[in-house]
Amino acid sequence: MATAKKWVYTFYEGNAQMKELLGGKGANLAEMTNLGLPIPMGFTITTEACTDYYKSGRKISNEIQQQIFTSLRWLEKENGKKFGDNSDPLLVSVRSGARVSMPGMMDTILNLGLNDISVKGFAQKTNNPRFAYDSYRRFIQMFSDVVMEVPKSKFEKIIDEIKEQKGVKFDIDLDVNDMKKLIKRFKALYKEAIGEEFPQDPDTQLMEAVKAVFRSWDNPRAIVYRRMNDIPGDWGTAVNIQTMVFGNMGNTSGTGVAFTRNPATGAKGIYGEYLIDAQGEDVVAGVRTPQPISKLEEDMPGCYSEFINLAHKLETHYRDMQDMEFTIQEGKLYFLQTRNGKRTAEAAINIACDLVDEGMITPEEALLRIEAKSLDQLLHPTFDAEALKAGKVIGHALPASPGSAAGKVYFTAEDAKNAAAAGERVILVRLETSPEDIEGMHAAEGILTARGGMTSHAAVVARGMGTCCVSGCNDLKVKEEEKEFELNGTVYHEGDYISLDGSTGTIYEGDIPTVEAEISGNFGCIMRWADQFRKMKVRTNADTPADTENAVRLGAEGIGLCRTEHMFFEAERIPKFRRMILSDTVEQREAALAELLPYQREDFIGMYKALRGRPMTVRFLDPPLHEFLPKTEAEMRELADSMGLTYEKVKAHCEAMHEFNPMMGLRGCRLSVIYPEISRMQTRAVIEAAIAVKKEMNYDIVPEIMVPLTGERKELLFVKNIIVETAEQVMKEQGYFLNYQVGTMIEIPRAALTADDVAKEADFFSFGTNDLTQMTFGFSRDDAGKFLDSYYEQKIYEFDPFSKLDQTGVGLLMRMAVQKGRKENPMLHCGICGEHGGDPSSVAFCQELGLDYVSCSPFRVPIARLAAAQAAINLKNKK
Ligand code: ADP
Ligand code: MG
Ligand code: MG
Repeated sequence: MATAKKWVYTFYEGNAQMKELLGGKGANLAEMTNLGLPIPMGFTITTEACTDYYKSGRKISNEIQQQIFTSLRWLEKENGKKFGDNSDPLLVSVRSGARVSMPGMMDTILNLGLNDISVKGFAQKTNNPRFAYDSYRRFIQMFSDVVMEVPKSKFEKIIDEIKEQKGVKFDIDLDVNDMKKLIKRFKALYKEAIGEEFPQDPDTQLMEAVKAVFRSWDNPRAIVYRRMNDIPGDWGTAVNIQTMVFGNMGNTSGTGVAFTRNPATGAKGIYGEYLIDAQGEDVVAGVRTPQPISKLEEDMPGCYSEFINLAHKLETHYRDMQDMEFTIQEGKLYFLQTRNGKRTAEAAINIACDLVDEGMITPEEALLRIEAKSLDQLLHPTFDAEALKAGKVIGHALPASPGSAAGKVYFTAEDAKNAAAAGERVILVRLETSPEDIEGMHAAEGILTARGGMTSHAAVVARGMGTCCVSGCNDLKVKEEEKEFELNGTVYHEGDYISLDGSTGTIYEGDIPTVEAEISGNFGCIMRWADQFRKMKVRTNADTPADTENAVRLGAEGIGLCRTEHMFFEAERIPKFRRMILSDTVEQREAALAELLPYQREDFIGMYKALRGRPMTVRFLDPPLHEFLPKTEAEMRELADSMGLTYEKVKAHCEAMHEFNPMMGLRGCRLSVIYPEISRMQTRAVIEAAIAVKKEMNYDIVPEIMVPLTGERKELLFVKNIIVETAEQVMKEQGYFLNYQVGTMIEIPRAALTADDVAKEADFFSFGTNDLTQMTFGFSRDDAGKFLDSYYEQKIYEFDPFSKLDQTGVGLLMRMAVQKGRKENPMLHCGICGEHGGDPSSVAFCQELGLDYVSCSPFRVPIARLAAAQAAINLKNKK
C-alpha cells in the first residue's frame, strides 16, 4: 500500500533546510524548536498543499484537511488544552510563510478559536477580562480583514470613534467595557458587509483562515512584489498553525522585533524595538511609538539577558545577521520567528566583511550574501556637502532607510506613480504606508511618514527596495485630501520640492543637489574579492569620455557598446547630420560626412584616452534616420536655409522618409548598404583615432568595429568589405598599421539561427538583447507597457522580458548562436550589450552560456562584477 503524501509537518519534524517545502518561517520555527529555543508549539502545512489548492480549483482536498485536523489533535495534547473548548480554549495563530520572506504581502491571523462563549471562559480562566475581550476583538478584526476582505480602515474608524468618545489617545487606554462595545460593533460591521453572522465554529474559522492564506499568495500586491523580486508564481506559500502566546496581558507582557546587528549600517550589537502590553503587529503598524530594546533591560532584566543570549546563539548558528520576533507573556520569553535579516546594501557589505573577519564565513560565502542588485543603493549620489550646509532644515525624524533624495511632494501612491511615470522625481509623503502603497513607494525617490518606527512597514519595505525613507515624524501633519502637509508651522503643497536624508533622518526644504558616490573601504574589499572569483569580464555601454571615465572608476574593463549615433545629437552637430541625411547626391552626402568626421574622431580619441588601453567596441550608425529629422516648421526652415533648399523641398523629403514601422525599417547595417559612405566615414574616424592615441600614449589598441542588425552573412560581408577597404586605405595614408576586428550584433533572430554562417565573417558576436527580445516576442519595448500589465494579471508572462532576460525563448536563440558560432569559428569572442547585461539573473545565465563578457550601463558595472562572481561561484558549487 502506498503511504499517503505528507502535507503537514510538526515543528519537531522540520528543519532549516526544508524552506522549499515548509516556507522560510516554518523551516526556521522547526530549526529553533530543535535548537531548544522557547517556541510556542505548532505545525506547518506545506507549500505543496498550496500548489495543490490551486490545481484543484481553489479547494483543499479531504486528505489535506484530515491531516490538518490530526495535527490539531496532536497540538491539543501538547498543550493540554482543547481547540474550541468553552472554558479554557486552545488559541492559535495562522501565519503564512513562503520560501523567501515577502514582507507585508500575506497577513497573519491571531487568537483564532475564540467565539462569543469561549471568550467568557477565557476571561475567567486568565482572570483578565480586559485581555480576553481585547484578544477577541483583535481576532474579529483580523479575520474580517484577511479572510473576508472587510477593509481594515472601517474597523480603525470604529476604534477611533470609541477613543474619541472616551477622550483617550491610545488603544491601551480602553477598558473591558470598551472592548465589549468594539466587539459588538465589529460583529455588526461584519454582518453588514458579509450578510452573515461572524463565524462561531472554530473549525470553520481555521479552514477559512488557511484558505485565505493560500489565496493571499495570489493577491495583486503579492504578484507585484514577486515581479519586482524575481519570485516565480508556482512556489506557493506554506501555512503555520501555532499556539498563541500573549503579549497583551498587561505590564509584564509585550512584543517586539530585533536584529542581531543594525540592518541600516551593519554595526554590531542588538538593535530593535518593543512595546509593553501589545500584540502581534502593533510594533510595526505604528499604533504607538515603540521603545528601543535597550529599555527592556530596565523593564525586565531577566528576559533581556535571556533574549540576548538566545539571539547570539541564533546568529552563530545561522552564521548571519538575524531578524527576530519575540513575545513576552507574563515575564516568560518566547521566540516567534527568526530569519536572515533584510538589510541595506551598506549593512550587507559591512556585515559580510565583519563575518569574514570574525572567522564565521569565507570570502566566497561573503560574496553570496550580498544581493547584487542592492549595490545600486551605494552607487547613487549623496547630497553635495556645501549645498547641504546651506539647506534649510524643516524637521527631524527616524533615519529609516539611508540615501539622499530630493523631489516633488505627492500624497498618494497613485499620484506618486503617475508623477514618476511622467518623469518627475517624487517624494511620497504619507501618514503611514501600507502594502497597497507598494508601487508608489517603488516609484518614489524617497518616502516620508508621520507614524511608524524603524521597523514599520514603510521602513522595512523602503530598506528592501533601497529607497531613502524618513519615518515617524511626529510633528508632520499630513492632510492627504487637501494634498498638503504642515511641518513646524509651514504648509507644503503637492508639487513643492523637499529633500530627505535617510541616513540622518533630516528633512530639508527645496531641491538639494547631489554628488557622485565612491567605491572604498568594505565596498572596495568586496569588489576585489568579486574580481578574484569571477570568470566573465565586465564592460560598459558608454558614448562619451565622461561616461567612460565614470565607468572605468567603477571597474569597467572596456566598452562593450559605444553607440555612435548618440554623438550626433549635440546642437552643433545635428544640422550637419541632417544635411547628410537629406543629401540628394553621393557628393553632397560625402561633403556633409566630411564635416562630421572630425567630431567623431575627436570623440573616439577622448574615449580611447579615458580607456587607457582597455578595449572598445564601436557600433556603427543604427537607428532609423527619421529620428534625426527636423520636426517643427522652424527647424525645417533653418535647415532649408543652411542647405540652400526651399522649405517645401525639405518638408517633402522628410515626409518621403516616413516609415510605417521604423524599428523594422531602414536602420542598422541596412543604412550602410544604401549609403556605404556613412560606414566609410565611421571607419576612418575609428582608425584615425586609434592610430593617434596609440602614437601619443602608446596604448595597445585593437579597434573593434561592430555592425548592427545583421540578419544574413552576405549583408555583414558587404559592410565588412567597406570597413576593410577603408581601414587599409587609412593605415596606408598614415603609414601606421594596427590590428582591428570586425564583428556583429546578434539581435535579429535570423542571425542567431544562421550563426554558423554569420560567424564566418565575424571576429565577435555581441548579443543586443533589447532588439533580440523585441524581435523574438514581436512587440516593442516602447509599446509593451500598454498591455504587459494584463499579461501579468492573466499569468501569461510573469516578468518584463526587457528587464529580465527570457531564458526560454530569447535565451535559446543565444545558446544556439554561441554554439553554432564557436563551432565555425573557435576564436569567436562573445558578449552581451543589452540592458540585461546588468541584471543579476541574466548575468548568471550569460555565465552558463559561457560568454566572455557582459556589458552594462556605467552605474551597473559593480552590480555586474558581483553578479558575475556569484554566477561563477554558484556554477562551481553545483559541479
Ligand atoms: P509576517 O510574516 O507579516 O511578519 P507573522 O506571521 O510573523 O507575519 O505574524 C505577524 C505578527 O504576529 C508577528 O508580530 C508575530 O510575532 C505575531 N504572532 C504570530 N504568531 C503568534 C503567536 N502564536 N503568538 C503570538 N504572536 C504571534
Ligand atoms: Mg505581516
Ligand atoms: Mg513575522
